[in-house]
Amino acid sequence: MANYTLPRLEDFIHRINGKRTHLLLLRNNRGVEVALSDFGARIVSLLVPDNKGNRVDVVLGFKCIADYLAAGEPYHGATIGRFANRIAGGKFTIDGYEYTLVPNHGLNTLHGGSGGFHNRVWDRRVNYLQKADFYYVSADREEGFPGKLAVRVKYRLTDDNELTINYRAETDAPTVINLTNHAYFNLNGEGSGDVLDHALKINADRYLPIDEYQIPTGVWEPVANTPFDFRQFKSIGRDIGQPHDQLKKGNGYDHSYILNAADASPSATAVSPATGIRLDVFTSEPALQLYTGNFLNGKDRGKQGKPYGKHSAFCLETQHFPDSPNQSDFPSTLLIPGQVFQSETSYRFSVEKSTDFR
Ligand code: BGC
Repeated sequence: MANYTLPRLEDFIHRINGKRTHLLLLRNNRGVEVALSDFGARIVSLLVPDNKGNRVDVVLGFKCIADYLAAGEPYHGATIGRFANRIAGGKFTIDGYEYTLVPNHGLNTLHGGSGGFHNRVWDRRVNYLQKADFYYVSADREEGFPGKLAVRVKYRLTDDNELTINYRAETDAPTVINLTNHAYFNLNGEGSGDVLDHALKINADRYLPIDEYQIPTGVWEPVANTPFDFRQFKSIGRDIGQPHDQLKKGNGYDHSYILNAADASPSATAVSPATGIRLDVFTSEPALQLYTGNFLNGKDRGKQGKPYGKHSAFCLETQHFPDSPNQSDFPSTLLIPGQVFQSETSYRFSVEKSTDFR
């Protein structure tokens, strides 16, 4: 069993585009520790207790800022914006005016473009033992998006082992917004191989099929009788290899689930049979992107030098529907001056004593 520790603070002090970066630590009285970087307002490490009382780092990431800058995969643990997920053709229209973004994924724009929020050094104004707030002002026309957008991301760690991320944003001109966190989870521990044995449950009756460029077709498809049905616990790996057209298009699961109307139950739950670590996700967002690390290729090496290969993590990215600005049947992602964008997502950790979980 690996011995997981937090990265060294000094390895995160750097200067990117003239701004200094840091590592911030949150800690509660039950042994949970979180390392955050202001580079991308991101989660670097998340140490939680397992069924043997050991602490396991359950997120992928790197041991120093230089490794983040050199990595093939730039989104590890980061705050994603101004528009998480894809915008088809890197174009959308507001009030009859067409805006053109910088495409970074074929012809599409993914995760706000290559200069998106994951790649910016955020300001931090508050940092206590269990709270950290990050701020970023995205200029008018940054990556092509209209309006100057002021964003705040608040991290809170509770004594119930819950990490809450609260987002708030305001604009000075009509724009589109979709914010998420791109934590790559492995509840067996980062760098310990694939996550196909993890049990997963998603509180969604429908998902959004994609075309060959991974843009939603616009159909709200029932998950029933498909490999996309996670309404009862099943392992991530059980159906991932099925010859289903959508699994081919995503190279695995890389799809938006339409969350069932909010009740008290979690939007998603994942459990590792090996460590007993259970993750419950709660969100105010209408959808969740299940991404099973299909494009991780083993070239990036993580905090302990282990390669991050295909399926070595899963992401549960809470958000609005992909490509909403171009799809009139999807909930709106328009933000206008005077409105406040707000959303909240919590990751709650606990330990399952048996493997007979519900
Ligand atoms: C997307 C994947 C993409 C990944 C970034 C996910 O949110 O859905 O298609 O490859 O982010 O590496």
